[in-house]
Amino acid sequence: MLDIKVTRTATPKAKPADENHLGFGKIFTDHMFLMDYTEGEGWHDPRIVPYAPLPLDPATVVFHYAQEIFEGMKAYRTADGTVQLFRPDCNANRFQDSADRLCIPRIPADDFVQAVEALVDVDRDWVPYSDGASLYIRPFCFANDVGLGVHASKHYIFCIICSPSGAYYAEGLDPVRIYVEDEYIRAAPGLTGFTKCGGNYAASIKAGELAEEQGFSQVLWLDGVEKKYVEEVGSMNIMFKIDGKIYTAACTGTVLPGVTRRSIIELLRDWGYEVVEGKLAIADVMQAAREGKLEEVFGTGTAAVVSPVKELDWKGEQALIGDGKIGALTQKLYDTLTGIQWGKLPDTKGWTVPVKKMF
Ligand SMILES: *Cc1c(COP(=O)(O)O)cnc(C)c1O
Repeated sequence: MLDIKVTRTATPKAKPADENHLGFGKIFTDHMFLMDYTEGEGWHDPRIVPYAPLPLDPATVVFHYAQEIFEGMKAYRTADGTVQLFRPDCNANRFQDSADRLCIPRIPADDFVQAVEALVDVDRDWVPYSDGASLYIRPFCFANDVGLGVHASKHYIFCIICSPSGAYYAEGLDPVRIYVEDEYIRAAPGLTGFTKCGGNYAASIKAGELAEEQGFSQVLWLDGVEKKYVEEVGSMNIMFKIDGKIYTAACTGTVLPGVTRRSIIELLRDWGYEVVEGKLAIADVMQAAREGKLEEVFGTGTAAVVSPVKELDWKGEQALIGDGKIGALTQKLYDTLTGIQWGKLPDTKGWTVPVKKMF
């Protein structure tokens, strides 16, 4: 258990009046969580303080060598006023896996969840009330040594910030066009694809920008060795429904093990679907489309929950999916997961964790 010291702001900000135009990650709550690591001493000084800039020396390691990891999760307000998290233990465990790969000292999973709950409790009034809006939570940790030598840092900062965010789909779940990237790659065996680290994102921005310029909303990443097998879409996992079966890439080091991915696989198996976690060649996806067997394609992730795809473009060939509208199974998954998250459907899985009043 962390002994968290709370210092409340003397100047609370005005809460957004219009919850329909919050966007994503644009405004931040009144407080943030901080904890420091010093070699020899371990993690210390857990505290909640007013949200403010962090003073950092320009020679701080993270600015130069990107030794940094993060998480993304949400707090949801239910109709009876409960504020709840969705499978926070999964984020805590994944944060440890990311930490190990980036040589960052682990934070015990219980401490991670306690810190998230404490901050959400202090900023509880910031959790949006309107349908589909939620409080996006961004825990992150970075190397805080000062100096330009390349080595694992001896000092780290763990920080959590929160941002009230609007419904991802203000205008309904509109299927998107996806560019299958055949030049740039996101991950390769031995690298950091399975971690949530800023470096992965830095390396993926260019492909995303180029695809957007051509009118696509995201890129579909192929494996980094042969550029043959599908892996992820933008910053989401991706699933294909082909001839009644669901296919998705296995989490074998190059794919981020999404909490949404995992939850959807559990739901699909409960519903009697066969889910294949393994290699799926993009050529086979295109062939399935030609044969009329590519029934549904969708990305999965915390921000959007599911993101239906209506078109894939690979080396000049287009695969059109379904009738261009969201597929029935994609819609059912969206309704079920959001139903559980916002407390509209019973949580038979024990996935939701109410945030207790502590402060
Ligand atoms: C965060 C992320 C996902 C989705 O993970 P969730 O836990 O479902 O939000 C998928 N791919 C990448 C690259 C990610 O960073």
